[in-house]
Amino acid sequence: MSNIYYFGNMKDKRKYADRAKYLINAVKKRRKNVREMAISYKGNRCEICGYRKCNEALEFHHQISKKDFGISSKGYTRSWEKVKHELDKCVLLCANCHREAHAGKHKVVDK
Ligand SMILES: [Zn+2]
Repeated sequence: MSNIYYFGNMKDKRKYADRAKYLINAVKKRRKNVREMAISYKGNRCEICGYRKCNEALEFHHQISKKDFGISSKGYTRSWEKVKHELDKCVLLCANCHREAHAGKHKVVDK
């Protein structure tokens, strides 16, 4: 990180802004990676219908009502071990099956 030498220099204010942007992107990227890791940990497919066409359409459904934190948002910034612990309480479902599960069409039982 040689950019540190430019901090405080008026001329290079833009570099500081770029760095902030870079950090934001790094966090976004990490969140995406953890999501991908989580999906692959759960087998890359919907556990009900086997859908595996698009990861964006795969969601986590909690089997146990008591949850430590939400996987879908803040969970991604926590450690992978914690995420895995949480994933063990979830099933991976496609968006359709997830809605159907919430509508009571599927009996997603605790393992
Ligand atoms: Zn499905």
